[in-house]
Amino acid sequence: MRDQFRLLLALQQVEDRLRACALEEQQLPQRLQAYEAACAAARQQLVQQQAAIEQSERQQRVFERELVNHQEAIRKTQSKAQDVKTNKEYSAILAEIDAGKQRLEALEDQLLGLMEATDQQRQAYRAQEQQEQAALQELVEQTHHIQQAQETLRCTMLDVHERRQQTVAALDAKLYEQYQKVAAQHGGRVVAQLQEGVCSGCHLKVPPQMISEIRLQTQLFTCPHCRLMLFWFA
Ligand SMILES: [Zn+2]
Repeated sequence: MRDQFRLLLALQQVEDRLRACALEEQQLPQRLQAYEAACAAARQQLVQQQAAIEQSERQQRVFERELVNHQEAIRKTQSKAQDVKTNKEYSAILAEIDAGKQRLEALEDQLLGLMEATDQQRQAYRAQEQQEQAALQELVEQTHHIQQAQETLRCTMLDVHERRQQTVAALDAKLYEQYQKVAAQHGGRVVAQLQEGVCSGCHLKVPPQMISEIRLQTQLFTCPHCRLMLFWFA
């Protein structure tokens, strides 16, 4: 009988192990989610930075056209200066040229500032490109790790399955039937331990008379409260 009890315990252990493996197998792919999200975020950031650079370049072309127009306007004003008749007209034209040159300088400053800013945007873009590459590389590595873990897990499960079958084959058919019944009622849990007179399954006290009988290990007892198989672990 003690051998049969040992087999019941062994069966509980392999089944616990199989459930744990199945859970791990199910959860493994979720570990990739953070790395996939990091890649997507890095790519999204690149797309936004690219759009900002294009916007700056468009703005730069607008400024360049304005600059050309301003230069043209100043040249026209300067050519008018040759045809003026009076000092007053001449002063007015000089003032106009001055104002035009000031606007031109301001525009040139703006354009320069924009070009510098665009340069910085391009540098940030290149840095971000490297970050995206690193994120992709990390994803590849993690995918590889997880594939290896899955492979290891599959081997373990095959091994545990085999141990389970060996255990079941050696177990008394009636006991196995009883095991399955309890397992079905308790979500796979069958075996409980008697610890200081208390069932480890439901944490309730077991009658003293039953405790001494369980200690003898000559007969299978189930907990009077939760119906799990109660064993004495010496
Ligand atoms: Zn119990």
